[in-house]
Amino acid sequence: MMKKVLKFGGTSVGTVERIQHVAKIIKKEYDLGNEIIVVVSAMAGQTNNLIKLSQSIADDFNKRELDVLLSSGEQVTCALLTGALMKINIKAQSWLNWQIPILTEGEHANSRIVNMNVTKINNYVKKGVAVVPGFQGISKDGEITTIGRGGSDASAVVFAKLLNADSCEIYTDVDGVFSTDPNKIPVAKKIDRISYEEMLELSSVGAKVMQSSAVQTAMIYDIPLQVRSTFTDRKGTKIFDQQNIDYSKSVTGVAYSKDDAKITLIGVEDKPGIAANIFEPLNKAQINVDMVIQNVSSDQKTTDISFTIKRDDLLKTKKILSDNKKIEYKNITHNDRVAKVSIVGAGMVSTPGITYKMFRALADVDINILAISTSEIKLSVIIDEEETLNAVKKLHTIFELD
Ligand code: ADP
Ligand code: ASP
Ligand code: MG
Repeated sequence: MMKKVLKFGGTSVGTVERIQHVAKIIKKEYDLGNEIIVVVSAMAGQTNNLIKLSQSIADDFNKRELDVLLSSGEQVTCALLTGALMKINIKAQSWLNWQIPILTEGEHANSRIVNMNVTKINNYVKKGVAVVPGFQGISKDGEITTIGRGGSDASAVVFAKLLNADSCEIYTDVDGVFSTDPNKIPVAKKIDRISYEEMLELSSVGAKVMQSSAVQTAMIYDIPLQVRSTFTDRKGTKIFDQQNIDYSKSVTGVAYSKDDAKITLIGVEDKPGIAANIFEPLNKAQINVDMVIQNVSSDQKTTDISFTIKRDDLLKTKKILSDNKKIEYKNITHNDRVAKVSIVGAGMVSTPGITYKMFRALADVDINILAISTSEIKLSVIIDEEETLNAVKKLHTIFELD
């Protein structure tokens, strides 16, 4: 007998038929004598629809009320799935975040789960299936908060830790983690095993099959994860510790995201402290600056500084820059039609020439690199958004992942 956390994503519970199908998967696990905690997402598209509804009332819809609204998506799935389990004679019960409670800390839309009362759930799983909502919790002041988009993955991992589960299985709409998005690049290959480190890098640069904070939590507490399909019986991907790093391959995967924007300050004074003066107010406003490039100054007096931020932060960033009295520049430009394409692989550490190989490959298909950033096991470039799939395909082939 095992204690299992099973998480089902939005597409997996996207229709009534799919919810009934999920109930059958759970029944199979339950009939084997396992203790089952099910974590659900909102039905596919539901969270986006709720966001649109709020925006049709106000662009700056109140954050507290937005969390109340968005948390309802998972509430619907919890009840429907529990009903579907009862219908096939499985004893089941759902709870809302405050009924457990699932305790969160941090601001609305961006909180994190810090604890849960495990007693109710632990008692219940001895006699039936416990169904709990992903993506949310309640603060110590009794406020409903959500934990960021794609957050049900993180909920599942934290619950697995707090409930001391034997396994945490992430059921989704693809067979596992692939070398790149299989829905965009059909030659992508499924990865059987991947280390936390590589998965964390991949998800933080766009592989949304796992949410990055979920992987980070799994890595910290050493909670092995399994990503698998709701719709096929194929073996999924195991995510676990370092011993699973495949050093024979320099690159494990290619990922991309289209949520960045690049800003360039032209003709900034070239003197000590100027970068600090530019970035200090951005930091205060919690705007995350990703890549920074400073040109060599041609006249020794002024220079150009470019940096990338999340596209959603563009207007706010431009306003902060124009209000900043501590800096002077001739002009400011931005480009919000950029994409970040990244290669990730633990084997990169021990393989020389990866950087050159990536740049050469992009040059061969006439793709201009606008910015570059590296970490030990990741190399990212900013390029024109229109070239994204072209670049991903080329890199996937050149690093022998097809
Ligand atoms: P869920 O609703 O189950 O949480 P998501 O839509 O968040 O599912 O994540 C699954 C999707 O992630 C897949 O449908 C796929 O298009 C996308 N994806 C992006 N990169 C990868 C990758 N490297 N491997 C697998 N899927 C990926
Ligand atoms: N429903 C939430 C979202 O769409 C959380 C999740 O699906 O993981 O972001
Ligand atoms: Mg997801």
